[in-house]
Formats: sequence, C-alpha cells, structure tokens
Amino acid sequence: MKEPSIGDLAKVFGKEFTYTGIIMPSKDEDIVILKLENGYNVGVSKSKIQNISIVRQARPPVKNTPKIKSKAGLPNISIVTTGGTITSKIDYRTGAVHPLTKPEELIANIPELAELANIKIISPFSKLSEDLTSVDLQKIASSVALEINKGADGVIVTHGTDTLHFTSAALSFMLKDLPKPVAVVGGQRSSDRGSFDGHQNLICAVQYCLSNIAEVAIIMHANSDDDFCYALRGTKVRKMHSSRRDAFRPINCLPLAKIDPKKGVEHLDKNYNKKVGKKVIVNTKLEPKVVLIKYSPGLQPNVLDYYIDKGYKGIVLEGTGFGHVSTETWMKQIERATKHAVVCMTTQTIYGTTNNHIYSAGVKLHKAGVIYCKDTLPETAYVKLMILLGQHKNLQEVKQMMTQNLAGEINERIEKKSFLF
Ligand code: GLU
Repeated sequence: MKEPSIGDLAKVFGKEFTYTGIIMPSKDEDIVILKLENGYNVGVSKSKIQNISIVRQARPPVKNTPKIKSKAGLPNISIVTTGGTITSKIDYRTGAVHPLTKPEELIANIPELAELANIKIISPFSKLSEDLTSVDLQKIASSVALEINKGADGVIVTHGTDTLHFTSAALSFMLKDLPKPVAVVGGQRSSDRGSFDGHQNLICAVQYCLSNIAEVAIIMHANSDDDFCYALRGTKVRKMHSSRRDAFRPINCLPLAKIDPKKGVEHLDKNYNKKVGKKVIVNTKLEPKVVLIKYSPGLQPNVLDYYIDKGYKGIVLEGTGFGHVSTETWMKQIERATKHAVVCMTTQTIYGTTNNHIYSAGVKLHKAGVIYCKDTLPETAYVKLMILLGQHKNLQEVKQMMTQNLAGEINERIEKKSFLF
C-alpha cells in the first residue's frame, strides 16, 4: 500500500467505513486526518484502516505563475477577480480555505481557458463577498466598463457566491447600453477539491462571453452533475442553497441560456439584448443610506423610525405575501417614513409578485406612499434603489422607475414553468 502524502485525495477503507477526502497533516502519527467533501475533517485510527487508495495526487504548488501569451485570432476576455472560493485553495497546514496568492494560478489550473480566448486578469481587490461594501460594487463596475471600453470581447467577474446576485444586479443597473457579455461567476468548492465547480463555471463563462448576449448574467452549475451551466439574468437570480453547486436559480423567469462547456451557448430565452456598439456607459453613483428590512409578525414599527432618524433615504420592505406589514400597528411610522424616504415593497415569498389591490392592507400601504415593485426581487430592489437615489434628484422619478422595468428586473407576465425551476 503506497503511503499517501499530504494534499493527496484518497479513499480510506475500513471494515465499517469508507471515507474519501484530502489527506491533512496529523499531529498524532497513529491517526490519518481527512478533509471530506463537505468541508469537515475526520480522524481515522491507522489500526482500523484496511486499505488506502490514492484518487488524485496533490497538485504541486504553482511556483512561477505562467506568462499568459496571447494568440492571434482568439477573442480577448478580461477576468476581474474579487475574491471568494473560486480563487481560493485549501491550506494543508491548517485545513482552512485561503485566497490564491496570485489569481493567475486559476489559469494554470484551467488550461482550457487559454485555448478558447486570450485571457487578461485584473484584480482590483480580494475579499469574501460578505465583506463587500457599496464602494467595492462601484470598483467592480468601473473595472468591467474599463475593460469593455478598451476592447474586451467579454468580461468575467469572479466573486464569492454568497452575495453574487447583489453584484450582478448592481452591474445590470450601472452598465448602460452594454455592448458585450458580462459573466458573473463563483465556485461553491475551492480549486483543490474533487468537486471544484469553478472549473466548469469558468469555462462556461468564457463560452458565454463568446456569445452575442450583451447582458449581465450569473453563470453557475445548472445541476449537481458536471455537464452544463445556466446563464441567469443578473437581476432575476438568487442563491437558493447554502452549499449545492446548482444553488443559483432563476426567479420568475427561465434561464437566458444553457451553456455546454464544450459546445457553447444554447439560447433558452429568445428575448435578450444583442451585441450592438462598442462602448459602455458606466454610472457608479449610488446612495449608501438604503436598507432592506424583512418584516415578521410582531416586528416593532419603530425600526422605521430608527432608519429615518439616521437619515436613510431609501427603505425596501420585504413584506408578507402580496406585500404587507401590519396596518394595525405600522401605519403611523409608514406615513412618517414615506415623507422622508422612498419606501418600497417587495415580497418575502421570493416567487410571484406584489400586488396592492387585493387586500385592504395593500391598498392602505400604497395610499400611504409605499411603492409596490411588482416582482422585483428584494435584493435587486435594494440595489436598484441605491443606484436610482444616487443618480436622480427627482424623487417622483425614482418612485416611478422603481415600478418600471429597467434591466430585466420586472416581468409583467410570469412563466408558469419558472416556479422552483
Ligand atoms: N462566504 C464566502 C464568499 O461569499 C465564500 C463562499 C463562496 O465564495 O462561495 O465570498
């Protein structure tokens, strides 16, 4: 039996167990420690092990990051890396996931990318996506616009998956007259795990950039097999599972396209913006004093006073059902809030649309000045309101635009098939 080395992916067999995982350093020489697919470590006593087979040897660390040579005739694609699991790997000494020291290592690990396009990497910062601020969203949008305006045929943004859909929404509103595809992509597993999904997601993102869809889309696994990805419109998508590789689902619509890593894009929605022109207009101004509040029965209405007293300019409510909060206890604060801020209503049901005509609560809230955002997702409404308040002085116009479709965020007709797609 060949002794596995630290970093090898191994299968460990005992009488009553079989574990597959990465061999980690062990302080006790009688114990083998494995990092399992689910991220947990398991320690196995050597006396109980009957056999160990090496599934894959540890990848040697990339010492010199490869010089990326451009090849004549290939399209030019820029990758804007911002951090997250997709540009991380396990540190075998600690078992924790760390950012790659150089994002170029990604290309070294996925040679197929360089066969499809000339890849340029820009790394404005490296953060976990829960740490991103509105300033980071502005930096990402500016980097994407700069690359397009310098002539890139498409731009990929790599990003932590937790807040991927906030960024895809922000890019959808900040980049106007987008002439090229923009793919926003992440990975649910780090690059040295057997189930690394960033590999396929990135190849599909390159394929998306070779298509004629001039829209911002999230490109992630379509199912739990490694066969294809979906391109999901940047304003109509949500992370619907904390760990599955196919966590991102379209909401109230169908995917824009199915993407086979080898064959490329197959259009599923025929209604998409096509490549026209060369330059993108970018406006990254936004109002950071906007809050997203999820309503729950019994929530005290003075939560609204708190934000108004702090000078907030926008409040997005995630109401119940068609878009309600208690009209028995909230009306006074709602009336005060709508005098000082733009107050918008979305639904916490995720699927479906808000409607202020069905119940008296909706009628009252609407009459008090709450703006019903139809089927705009709460996260998308939050980002849209920040951007509109940052870019328009006339609040009447902002309110009106919150009910209008600007970047695919509102569907007047919701396809039946889209529910739990
Ligand atoms: N929570 C981190 C993030 O969103 C890591 C998870 C991930 O990248 O999927 O950046």
